[in-house]
Amino acid sequence: EQLVYYFGKTKSEGDATQKELLGGKGANLAEMTSIGLPVPPGFTCTTECCDQYYKQGKKLPRGLMDQVNEAIQTLEKETGKRFGSSDNPLLLSVRSGAAQSMPGMMDTVLNLGLNDEAVVGLAEASGNERFAYDAYRRLLNMYGDVVMGVEHEHFEHAFDKIKKKAGVELDTDVDTDGLKQLCGDYKKVIAKHADRQFPQDPIEQLRLGITAVFASWMVPRAIRYRQINEMFGLKGTAVNVQTMVFGNMGQDCGTGVAFTRDPSTGRNKFYGEFLVNAQGEDVVAGIRTPQPVAEMNKWKAPNNKTVGRNAHRELLEIKDKLEAHYKDVQDIEFTIERGTLYMLQTRNGKRTGAAAVKIACDMVKEKLIDEKTAVKRIPAGDLTQLLLPGFDPAAKKKATALTTGLPASPGAAFGKLSFTAEDTVARKAAGEQVLLVRKETSPEDVDGMNSAAGILTSTGGMTSHAAVVARGWGKCCVAGAGEIQIDEKKRKITVNGKTYGEKDTLSIDGGTGEVFAGEIDTVEPKLSGDFATVMKWADKYRTLGIRTNADSPADAKRARDFGAEGIGLCRTEHMFFEGDRLLNMREMILADTKEAREKALQKLLPHQRKDFEGIFRAMKGLPVTVRLLDPPLHEFVPTDPKAQKDVAKATGVSPKKVKDRVSALHENNPMLGHRGCRLSITYPEILEMQVRAIVEAAINSKKKKIDARAEIMIPLVGTVNELRLLRGKAEEVIEQVKKDKGFKGKLDILIGTMIEIPRAALTADEVAGEADFFSFGTNDLTQMTFGYSRDDINGFLPDYLGQEILEKDPFQSLDQTGVGQLITMAVEKGRSTNKSIKLGICGEHGGDPSSIGFCHRAGLQYVSCSPFRVPIARLAAAQAAL
Ligand code: ADP
Ligand code: MG
Ligand code: MG
Repeated sequence: EQLVYYFGKTKSEGDATQKELLGGKGANLAEMTSIGLPVPPGFTCTTECCDQYYKQGKKLPRGLMDQVNEAIQTLEKETGKRFGSSDNPLLLSVRSGAAQSMPGMMDTVLNLGLNDEAVVGLAEASGNERFAYDAYRRLLNMYGDVVMGVEHEHFEHAFDKIKKKAGVELDTDVDTDGLKQLCGDYKKVIAKHADRQFPQDPIEQLRLGITAVFASWMVPRAIRYRQINEMFGLKGTAVNVQTMVFGNMGQDCGTGVAFTRDPSTGRNKFYGEFLVNAQGEDVVAGIRTPQPVAEMNKWKAPNNKTVGRNAHRELLEIKDKLEAHYKDVQDIEFTIERGTLYMLQTRNGKRTGAAAVKIACDMVKEKLIDEKTAVKRIPAGDLTQLLLPGFDPAAKKKATALTTGLPASPGAAFGKLSFTAEDTVARKAAGEQVLLVRKETSPEDVDGMNSAAGILTSTGGMTSHAAVVARGWGKCCVAGAGEIQIDEKKRKITVNGKTYGEKDTLSIDGGTGEVFAGEIDTVEPKLSGDFATVMKWADKYRTLGIRTNADSPADAKRARDFGAEGIGLCRTEHMFFEGDRLLNMREMILADTKEAREKALQKLLPHQRKDFEGIFRAMKGLPVTVRLLDPPLHEFVPTDPKAQKDVAKATGVSPKKVKDRVSALHENNPMLGHRGCRLSITYPEILEMQVRAIVEAAINSKKKKIDARAEIMIPLVGTVNELRLLRGKAEEVIEQVKKDKGFKGKLDILIGTMIEIPRAALTADEVAGEADFFSFGTNDLTQMTFGYSRDDINGFLPDYLGQEILEKDPFQSLDQTGVGQLITMAVEKGRSTNKSIKLGICGEHGGDPSSIGFCHRAGLQYVSCSPFRVPIARLAAAQAAL
């Protein structure tokens, strides 16, 4: 079995397609070698070795060291140097590198192969004794740290002592004698703290070095990084063993990193930094401030006046060659040894959403890639960054971070703290910018939420009320920041020992979940022409329709501007929370008799009708799916005694009656209680009023030449009987209203249901007989399939993710194996009895790129998501189709 792949002049065994086996770094070192770029030769031990290392109880696979020895011999021939020789020794770097990049998470050892004798040889061969001992002390430090487990601080102490003795401050000011002594001290540090000597045998150094890199795959920070970035199913890290080149041999040497284009704006401008006379990790570590590559031309060495000019020219040539070859932005590492440039790494450069859009468009113009490639390459989720204001990254770096919650709704917001919805509304009206801080939010808080610059909660998950509502509005929200203790009474919060009140300002980043003290500057997004171009391409290739979840004319209009082709979910309950309506709603809930209830409903009717007219106007000609009342009634009445008294007064009943009604409405499990279509079964007059409002609005719109296309959606159906009954009632109302209004034309109102109870999916063939459409309500469907309450999942989700029981939050990204099966089944069964049934999804998943891919494959006709996610959905739908 081939465990080692060589790259060099002699042969180059790997290529860029072999990232899984050779790691990204190894595959690209081989590829660069093959296309003739100057890469120091070396070889890669495969990720398969790492897999075997763990499977065999942390032992290197048999035969690996034999293949390594063979590769070393080839290296020795090619370089004319010998590994471990005392004159002109071959030195090696041992570098980690997994299939997907994990920058800085695992370990690297440089200058391997030096020992007490070889260092003398290196000094002679290079004619630079200081350099040789500097290389040796770096090896002792890195090797001691990475391979032998000696804490870095012990080395630091030893270095400090030497510097103090010499009376200097900088590492670079220590002379050769100082470094010689330091090497001796470092060996003592290792012997003392590792209970063994630094191995003088180079092959032993290498064997242990390779082992240590494999071991670094499982260090906690690497595991955590893979979790955060949802990297699953990787075999492990490869190990790249490579001939050392030196950027620190003198003034004609240097090292640097660069991007072939600007990764933050996407501008086609070579962007990089370098340091003269330094070894690679110095640039990243920030020990010295590097210079921009653009100024490389000015770099001159006493023995080589044109070193900078030549290196710069060569770098630019390589840049063009790399982009032409990889057809993407590259992130590179390079080193210049005595005027000669070497490439040490290349990979596709990480970039911001804005840069991704600009680069994709520019590369199409440059004929480097075609439209389809451009569409596929932009991470759909990253478009969010373009649509919302963000914090100025420089300002954020300087700010005081307090804690981190869930990145519930992206954007950046700051404001003074406000603890109740009423306060928030009042303070906003008085011209203040406030953040609403609550343990959790309820529908009663929507006014306050709407008035807040941003929302911060200490409990609740990604689909908690606060999160869903905030995302719908594109309002910044950090949810579930559990370290924050909120004292609503005293109007203050405590977080990690610090206290903040109403007069204090915090900043929250909804894209990362970070919470900061004080105000951080924000920058407004500008939607570029490139953004429009990408959207145009996306529409050309996608087959899925994109609708939006919108409850108001303003949302509907915004979504249309973002390209929505209809409303997939209009939640009517949000309409009941404004002004007088809440009062009428409460009157209805508190009513004793059907008559009293109908009287209250009559007062709600004109409001609803007006809202629907507004929405039909905004969506002119596009379908609008209206969901009938869904939440349990208790959400509309207050639990707090004082508020109950106010309600009693306003509705003209006794406080006791309010109290009794509220306790009667109490349910142990409201999510599984009296809600959805169950409300209309008990109180058909609610359905009658809502359907009447929809139909009257549709007819009024038609009279104004607005093509209203209403779809009535009955929620939470679990058996066909519910739907049959309620559909019948709705049809009666439609006919009645037509008669009342003397309307003779066609309305074409569809009546359908949400599929959100597993039983509805299982019996979809029956249900489809009564439905013109299905809309998968995947929030409830996920909740009921897993049996996880979406509002309580945060209590255990972190453990589930940490122990890899779940890969992702199933409320964020659709569980395709489980919940997905119910969807696929319902699609099939539904179509079997109703060929023309329309199929869509309106859960939060409708805006998640990977879930959108699933919806495409499952054969749905549209996805519906919050207005701000419409562009993301358009792009993701195109990617699914390509
Ligand atoms: P990371 O994955 O953390 O970037 P690398 O394997 O790229 O780690 O190594 C870190 C740095 O070490 C590189 O940026 C480079 O400057 C330096 N380095 C690695 N191998 C060599 C080498 N063969 N010659 C010179 N410097 C090297
Ligand atoms: Mg690197
Ligand atoms: Mg639901």
